[in-house]
Amino acid sequence: MRKIDQSILISNIKQLFMNAAVSLDSKVVHALEEAQKIESFALARSILGKIIKNQEIARNEDIPICQDTGVAVVFLEIGTEVFLDYDIEAAVNEGVRQAYFEGYLRKSVVNHPLERKNTLDNTPAIVHIKQIPGDRLIIHAAPKGAGSENMSRLAMLPPSAGVKGIESFVLETVKLAGGKACPPLILGIGIGGNFEKVAILAKTALFRSLDDVAENQTDRELEESLKELVNSSDVGPMGLGGATTCLAVKVNSYPCHIASLPVAVNIQCHAARKKTVIL
Ligand code: SF4
Repeated sequence: MRKIDQSILISNIKQLFMNAAVSLDSKVVHALEEAQKIESFALARSILGKIIKNQEIARNEDIPICQDTGVAVVFLEIGTEVFLDYDIEAAVNEGVRQAYFEGYLRKSVVNHPLERKNTLDNTPAIVHIKQIPGDRLIIHAAPKGAGSENMSRLAMLPPSAGVKGIESFVLETVKLAGGKACPPLILGIGIGGNFEKVAILAKTALFRSLDDVAENQTDRELEESLKELVNSSDVGPMGLGGATTCLAVKVNSYPCHIASLPVAVNIQCHAARKKTVIL
């Protein structure tokens, strides 16, 4: 067994969130630059230029890309040969606490959805744990802003709805979101599973690399058709029109009940902040 100390988990979580807040993934920057080159609508081109400039300033001056530094979402993939003899969620929360204090990141979490008292340290984080073979610990961290999360949706479609039903639900979701989700977007789409599983599928889809494609051909075809459809919606950058409504669509699927076709659309705004480390 390989032991990973609590202090190592805490310091890595802290570093991931501090980095994620100020430094946009280079693949997202590249996608924004490519989109700007082919965008024919002048206003959309100008907005993309400002988004690109904004992330550049944030990186150079070590300041957050956006004022909403989000809820801390963490996916831990823990090897079967890794030994963690402490409260993992408590360690994650300590790392988040340190990151939000030391990075001067906005604390956006309230204690209860109706009492709404700020917890003052951005905890608790949303923590997901999965077991993997081997002796590695993989940490994925993403500060998720509310603008795009609030516009995300889930539907339990009848199986007869098929691909057309999924496409129409995704398009409707993007149009309802309009500028509120700060496009251009990255769409994490979950299909299958059940009510709670499909939401996790959509969220994990957002953690995929921007340039990868789904392993399954059906999902791959759906990624392509959805991207084309969404980019023909004319929602455009910040909802002001244009051909760049989304940079990528990622579809994750799972088996489901014969009578169900669950679909979840987790929307990620252009401030697609996420970092991963392998220990
Ligand atoms: S949706 Fe994204 S870019 Fe817009 S305010 Fe929220 S975190 Fe910032």
